[in-house]
Amino acid sequence: MTSMNDTFVPVYRASLPTADRLLPYLRIIDEAHHYANRGALVCQLEERLGALIAGSGCAVMSASCGTTALQAAILAQAGRATTARPYAMIPGHTFVATAMAAEACGYQPVFVDVDAEDWMMDALALRKHNLLDQAGIVIPVAPYGRVPAQAAWSDFARDTGIPVVIDAAASFEALTTIAGAGDIPVVLSFHATKAFSTGEGGAVIWSDIDGLARIAQALNFGFLYSRQSRSAGLNGKMSEYHAAVGLAGLDAWPATAERYRLVQQTYHAAAAAAGLADKLLTGPTIAANYALFHADTTDEATAIATALTDARIEHRFWYGQGVHREPYFAAQGPMSLPNTENLAAHLIGIPVFPDIEPQAIDAIVRCLAETVRNHG
Ligand SMILES: *Cc1c(COP(=O)(O)O)cnc(C)c1O
Repeated sequence: MTSMNDTFVPVYRASLPTADRLLPYLRIIDEAHHYANRGALVCQLEERLGALIAGSGCAVMSASCGTTALQAAILAQAGRATTARPYAMIPGHTFVATAMAAEACGYQPVFVDVDAEDWMMDALALRKHNLLDQAGIVIPVAPYGRVPAQAAWSDFARDTGIPVVIDAAASFEALTTIAGAGDIPVVLSFHATKAFSTGEGGAVIWSDIDGLARIAQALNFGFLYSRQSRSAGLNGKMSEYHAAVGLAGLDAWPATAERYRLVQQTYHAAAAAAGLADKLLTGPTIAANYALFHADTTDEATAIATALTDARIEHRFWYGQGVHREPYFAAQGPMSLPNTENLAAHLIGIPVFPDIEPQAIDAIVRCLAETVRNHG
């Protein structure tokens, strides 16, 4: 007999397309003998993503992952770092990949604090940063799949002349509900823990068709329409096999989105009944692959983390303590980003995935409610 008490609930469990769903696409690969370098499946995936996100056929460039998509977007927008402009401005509240991609393009990350309300770097506040005249690239992040603030950053780029690339890695669903492609490149990740996934994969969404060609060039060793390397680059291309996973994933997307919607409904109902409605965040405010409990204090967050662990419910602080606190980046010297540190300590990732059981959600919310009650 297993009861809820001895069942481990993971923070996330990906459900990618099964072998049966992949088979028709794999047979196309067998026929074509084309495995990499922009084959038929990659082009088909970009077209279908374009129709879903950008509203037009050709504003999507796929990549091998979100991090290589970011690198290519940085190279296409700004090139490699120069001695006059060595810095990349990056929010502290993000996944380490944002800073890693900038570093791979030669930039030194400068970590900037985020707004306490929308959790993002503020485009107006950044105009007054004392290192802005040495910044070669600015990389705002749409945390947890929130809607990226494209208009504010478009104004910033126009007024300051500093190129901007938005890391909206988890914002696939947000981009399907707004006009996704704008004049600032927006980067998505299709990693297995994201709501829509190709296993590993990523893309850049951008209305600039010449810009997308520069991204394709950066993703393919600086080659474009020839075998001469004409710009800085890397190997960041998506393979046909990953595109097959993406196409089968898009076939299933309406059903996946509906399952997520039901999970969110169950969470909302349980949280409302427990008086926690304003402390529990799920889609559509954030991406469907995240559910966050927003603790009021670090003490409360610590108590909740302990109670969840005791109940065999996994939790995750998705962005660690802030990227500036990762040992590798902290070696630059101590720095303090108060809003970043508060959010990092107070936003607790709790389990959510397409086939999570309603009983598991009830147990999670019960554990949260009991802890909050005992703590307060
Ligand atoms: C997932 C994620 C990435 C990294 O994407 P990969 O596809 O794993 O390279 C980058 N930034 C943010 C904010 C993410 O959530």
